[in-house]
Amino acid sequence: FVLLAGLLLALIVASVSWLLFSLRLRPGKEILLGIKRNEFHVVYQPLIEAATGRVYGLEALLRWTHPVTGPIPPDAFITYAESQNMIVPLTRHLFRLVAQDARLLCCHLPSGATMGLNIAPGHLSASGFRQDVNEWIASMPPAHFNYVFEITERTMVAGQKAAAVFDWLHEQQITIAIDDFGTGHSALIYLEKFSFDYLKIDRGFVQSIGMETVTSPVLDAVLTLARKLNLKTVAEGVETEEQAAWLIKRGVTHMQGYLFSRPLPPEQLIQYLQKQQAERADAQPAGS
Ligand code: C2E
Ligand code: MG
Ligand code: MG
Ligand code: MG
Repeated sequence: FVLLAGLLLALIVASVSWLLFSLRLRPGKEILLGIKRNEFHVVYQPLIEAATGRVYGLEALLRWTHPVTGPIPPDAFITYAESQNMIVPLTRHLFRLVAQDARLLCCHLPSGATMGLNIAPGHLSASGFRQDVNEWIASMPPAHFNYVFEITERTMVAGQKAAAVFDWLHEQQITIAIDDFGTGHSALIYLEKFSFDYLKIDRGFVQSIGMETVTSPVLDAVLTLARKLNLKTVAEGVETEEQAAWLIKRGVTHMQGYLFSRPLPPEQLIQYLQKQQAERADAQPAGS
């Protein structure tokens, strides 16, 4: 009996330590499991054209609701996924989810509306990137959206390789936005070296509008620079009318923020778009 109990105990110890070991070896497994269990979904935040106040396009933002810990902020799980080499499967999953939602969304948006996706540097330089992008485009409603890949400044450091990928993206009619401009390396040389289409000004700058800080002159200069380089500008995190008015006066071309809408799941976004349309129709004089 003692022998049997001992054997059983040894077996338990072995299997527990194997479990711990394998979890330690592949902690990114949680992400794969989350994909399999359908724990991810995408919310969409409208981008507003400054000149007209109309919805110009969307930014897709990934959400993860973990069964045990609940919602995990994307900044946290994206960093985690990158560190665990899970960004490629995660972005492929994002592509799938966006393609599903797009079928629902496209008839509520005018043709040519932008669809922006955040692409992590790790995926951009992965060998299967071009094939993933081609497959994604093939799975999207044909000729409806203009695609924008949002890339943070970090990516630019990759240099020559990044330039080739950006050229290829442009050949596929995909435009490129520098995300969170002003928070990363901010090497201005990259603005000349690579051809970008949009410059997304980080929320931090927008928040300082109206306050007596040194940031507003910097923001002013960034907008001037963008104009000279022929870049469209998107101000992120616009929360007040005062900020919007200031930005429009300084020539920002697009805005995004809670003032207009939070990121919304597809069904709620459709309601938002319908409401916008109804308000516009009301504002039009009858017969026109
Ligand atoms: P981001 O690409 O700069 O996205 C904008 C973030 O600002 C979003 O946060 C959005 O919810 C938030 N935001 C928008 N308007 C306002 C506002 O008026 N006020 C405030 N306080 N916040 C506003 P979120 O969704 O938490 O995403 C955080 C970051 O995580 C994103 O920053 C992006 O870098 C990353 N991320 C999100 N989804 C993905 C994804 O699918 N792939 C990758 N690689 N990164 C993603
Ligand atoms: Mg973004
Ligand atoms: Mg940003
Ligand atoms: Mg950000």
